[in-house]
Amino acid sequence: MTLRGRLTAAFLVVVLGPVLLGSIFVALTVATVSRNRAADRLDHAASTVRTGISAICRQLQGAADAVAVVPAGERSAVAGQLVARGLATDIRIVPATPIGAGSRSKPAGAGDNWQDCAAPTDGPAGAIAASTVVDTYAITATQTVDAAFLERLGAVSGAHVTLGGQAGPNGRELSAGPGEPLRLTVTVPHPKPHFLYAVLVTVVLAAGTAAILVARWLAHSTTRPLGDLAWAADQVAGGDLDTRVPIVRPDELGRLAATFNRMTRELKAYVRALTASRDQLRGHLAILGETLSSTHDVDRILQVILRTALAATGARAGLVLLLDPVGGHLVAHTAIGLTGAWDVPEAELGALRLPVGSGVLGEVAAGGEPRRGHGTIAEAEPPCRTYLAVPIQAPRGHGFSAPSVGLDADDPLRPGEGGPATLGVLALYDRVGGEDFDDADLHTLRTFAGQAGVAVHNVRMHEEAQRLSLTDPLTGLWNYRCLRESVRREVERASRFGRMLAVLVLDLDHFKEVNDTYGHAAGDAVLGEFARRIRIGLREVDVAFRQGGEEFVVLLPETDAYGGVIVAERLGAAVRDRPVSIDVGGVIPVTVSIGVAVFPEHGKTAQEVLQAADDALYAAKSAGRDTYRLADTADRVRKANFDSGTGSGGGPQPPRQARGR
Ligand code: GH3
Ligand code: MG
Ligand code: MG
Repeated sequence: MTLRGRLTAAFLVVVLGPVLLGSIFVALTVATVSRNRAADRLDHAASTVRTGISAICRQLQGAADAVAVVPAGERSAVAGQLVARGLATDIRIVPATPIGAGSRSKPAGAGDNWQDCAAPTDGPAGAIAASTVVDTYAITATQTVDAAFLERLGAVSGAHVTLGGQAGPNGRELSAGPGEPLRLTVTVPHPKPHFLYAVLVTVVLAAGTAAILVARWLAHSTTRPLGDLAWAADQVAGGDLDTRVPIVRPDELGRLAATFNRMTRELKAYVRALTASRDQLRGHLAILGETLSSTHDVDRILQVILRTALAATGARAGLVLLLDPVGGHLVAHTAIGLTGAWDVPEAELGALRLPVGSGVLGEVAAGGEPRRGHGTIAEAEPPCRTYLAVPIQAPRGHGFSAPSVGLDADDPLRPGEGGPATLGVLALYDRVGGEDFDDADLHTLRTFAGQAGVAVHNVRMHEEAQRLSLTDPLTGLWNYRCLRESVRREVERASRFGRMLAVLVLDLDHFKEVNDTYGHAAGDAVLGEFARRIRIGLREVDVAFRQGGEEFVVLLPETDAYGGVIVAERLGAAVRDRPVSIDVGGVIPVTVSIGVAVFPEHGKTAQEVLQAADDALYAAKSAGRDTYRLADTADRVRKANFDSGTGSGGGPQPPRQARGR
């Protein structure tokens, strides 16, 4: 059943119920009044009939007495006059039965069908009579009881009078008794109030019709705004936030409609803000995704992640610090919106460091657990009202060991079986609106910290892979691939800044014999030890490469021929003076031959300088090994001319072939 139907039914019950009850009450009252009135009329009629009969009896007695008082000879004449005047139907004068004066004398010709007014009996009542006795005569005045008589009684009393019979519901029996010689039945018509009932039914019908009409109107006017609201709610649920409900009346439904409209308006504004924020976040995520996939610049990636995290959480400022694997400190890499001592140019961020293990950020890095709160935090850390800091951790299951370099075995930052390695800390400050960061912010920031962890991990893995691809695994020195690029770059730099670059090519002497004599493993050990001695014999800016086999190259930036020769002498001595010890016992004496060439003195290009150093090495070998030779400028020129005259690939290459390359 619809709401409208229910309201209509309720209204009808409320309105028609009392109307019907009232109508029934009125009908009952009318019936009762009508009944009482009939009873009253019956009482009145009975009383009138009794009075009438009694009066007739007195009249008959009077007539008989009047006849009795006149002389005997005139009695018949007087009787005739009285009958003529209608005082009795008949007056008889008969000799009285000797039973005493005043005794009952039977009217002549009446038989037994009469009743004496003075002493009625239960017998038939064809007439009523009153008699008197005078002398020896009984004078009896009679009134015939016939239909006309009864009709007259009825006319006087206003009722229907019958002789004898049984009284119906509207009648009453008048029993015979002294002064009441007749047994009569008085009946009054029972008036039925049909008109009143008709009026009542009409009123009820009219009230019912009016109630139905009013109920329908009320239900309609009540439910229509609700229907409008339901329709509008449907529209809003379907996404149409422009839907509005008309406010027709200032009643509760009007207020409901106004509230609904306001709610929809605010919902629309909220959705718009949410959409804008989502679009902004989507933009940030697109940039983040693009950055993550297109660059290995950790700082740039961290900056985009931080910017996106700020947009997603509504924080005012943020900071990313990465763990310095060597120093065990947290080093600032990216900062946005910080104030005070932390408001520094990007280039100077690296100088901002925090100890691991103390302060909020230090504890997050040490414990690997996020922290959030408000108020002042450690003095060395950025000033803020509220903060939220989460650890940046390497993805689980990736045995990346870079962060643990330089950490003790029991250091909490060292990646263990229990959890991922902590790479740094991502912190946000001062949530817009002044409230503390909540669980949703924490969840969001952890997601971004996860991105940062993956990014840093990937970049470091990439750097490691790159380093491995450019490193010789046996000696740890840069490999031949790296050499080519490095020589080209160093020559270019020296050329640009007008500096010199010394190039040393080193080749172990008779190394084949080392292998043949002590085995290949011992040869490897010699190569490793030789590389180590090269490394420790060089400055920080110098770079050593393993060119291949037992041949090495050293680049000495900003070094002239004299400096190159000094280094060659030192390296030669470092090898010669201390034979290499091997694991299986014993020592292996090793010597090295070194060729030295200098840019731009011995070659204008990287290739030429390398070639000159190679030639000088060949000269050192030719000179008996365990020595060095400086490239000869004149010879170099001559050699260059020779090469250009014979073509690049066709000329003999004695030095290289002689060294087995
Ligand atoms: P020279 O004095 O003329 O340079 O004589 P050499 O024996 O050192 O020169 P050669 O070119 O004849 O031999 C080089 C040897 O170096 C041959 C090869 O077995 C050995 N060798 C090259 N690479 C490795 C390596 O990685 N490990 C070991 N153990 N030996 C290597
Ligand atoms: Mg050799
Ligand atoms: Mg060689």
